[in-house]
Amino acid sequence: MSINSNNPRMIRTRFAPSPTGYLHVGGLRTALYSFLYAKKHNGKFILRIEDTDQERLVEGATENLIKILNLFNLKFDEGPDVGGEFGPYIQSERRELHINEAENLLKKNAAYRCFCTKEDLDKMREEQQRLKKPPMYDKRCRFLSSEEIKQKLEKNTPHVIRLKVPENQKIIYNDLIRGKIEVLTNTIDDQVLIKSDGFPTYHLANVVDDHYMQISHVIRGEEWLPSTPKHIILYQAFDWKQPEFAHLPLLLNPDKTKLSKRQGDVACEDYLNKGYLEEALLNFVAMLGWNPGSGETQEIFTLNELIEKFDLNKVQKAGAIFNIEKLDWMNGLYIRQMDIEKLTEQILPYLQKQEWFTKSPLSKDIKYLQECIKLEQSRIKTFPDSIPMLEIFFTEQPEYDKKIFLNEKMKVDEAIAKEALEKSLKALEKHDNFDNEETTKETLMQVITEMNVKNGQVLWPIRTTLTGREFSPGVFELLRVLGKENSLKRIRNGIEKIS
Ligand code: GLU
Repeated sequence: MSINSNNPRMIRTRFAPSPTGYLHVGGLRTALYSFLYAKKHNGKFILRIEDTDQERLVEGATENLIKILNLFNLKFDEGPDVGGEFGPYIQSERRELHINEAENLLKKNAAYRCFCTKEDLDKMREEQQRLKKPPMYDKRCRFLSSEEIKQKLEKNTPHVIRLKVPENQKIIYNDLIRGKIEVLTNTIDDQVLIKSDGFPTYHLANVVDDHYMQISHVIRGEEWLPSTPKHIILYQAFDWKQPEFAHLPLLLNPDKTKLSKRQGDVACEDYLNKGYLEEALLNFVAMLGWNPGSGETQEIFTLNELIEKFDLNKVQKAGAIFNIEKLDWMNGLYIRQMDIEKLTEQILPYLQKQEWFTKSPLSKDIKYLQECIKLEQSRIKTFPDSIPMLEIFFTEQPEYDKKIFLNEKMKVDEAIAKEALEKSLKALEKHDNFDNEETTKETLMQVITEMNVKNGQVLWPIRTTLTGREFSPGVFELLRVLGKENSLKRIRNGIEKIS
């Protein structure tokens, strides 16, 4: 049976992670691109858990993967929990099929049993190293006579099954991202297909499952590129139609080394735990190696927009740099678009860990909290960085050094700052409606006119005494949210500090 023989145009992609216990950001991108490609072409997206390496099994890893893919809204049409007509979708449950197919290859003379022991292989490798040859299996069992094989099997000699890689051929295929790729078969080892413990290797299980699940497009990371010629040899040996291949560019650290744990987080879970939004992380990951095309400047996409715009021919070959500042910026954009109730809800758990918050009577006033968050919303990049910004609204008087009043660029020296604070205090004492930013503005503009100075020479000292911070929301908004009593108290303290 050849792939897609019933429905030649049906696009079926799969995400085939090993259950390591977390989702790597590169894995998220592979899943996303596979999902987008399938959805764009009205196809199906499949989740297959590749747990053939029984030594690396992590408990709960599959459930965790499913949970996190759902969190990102990457809904799969077929998979371990949702089922489907090509199941099971857990690779270890398909072992019988893998073994049968390996037997078929033996029958077709496309594979052979190898009885070499670990010691034999070690010796072989040492010898190759000594001769400065690339380490490869020297194929000695490929030429055993049927009598020799029979004897060894009768003695139950442990063995593996290896692929008979054809000699002196060129494997040529077209990668949808990289174009034509050619590999000489003489550089390819006779791959182990079934290990001595009876379990299939990645190569065999992956090809057999992709075939039986009628996968039309294999979309995976560049690190799998060297595996592809081996897979193609397998497809040829089985006489199956091979799928299309697309190898996504590597993810790199800013210093162009391969993205690794050593230089920062690689698990999606780490980013979510740090307070990044799923939508922002997904959007950011979408742009790691893909863009909507020349001349298009849009960078913020909903999942539906991505489905519409995505295509594999716009995926780059060159490695994509994982730039955390860009993620922060993007997360900030998403935070800016959030409605205030939802944003407050997200920030609240972080606030509740702060003593200054839980101790403040104002912490019970949700409307006040929302007003404070609204003032800071445009500056928040991640939820935790809103905490120091919000502190000033819940503490008596923020700690600061009086040097903060001085601003050379705005021409604010101590004398100006003092005069500005004193005159503003007087004017604001007489002013009542702090809720109205327009009228407080008029009041302070009068002070500015009276002192015959630039706006900043009055507004800078007021803003810094209200907040104790160089960066903060504007004066009139602060006066509104802090209210008359609190604002005047802070200005008086500022005057005391500077006197
Ligand atoms: N199980 C492999 C992984 O962990 C799958 C690679 C592929 O997509 O073929 O990524």
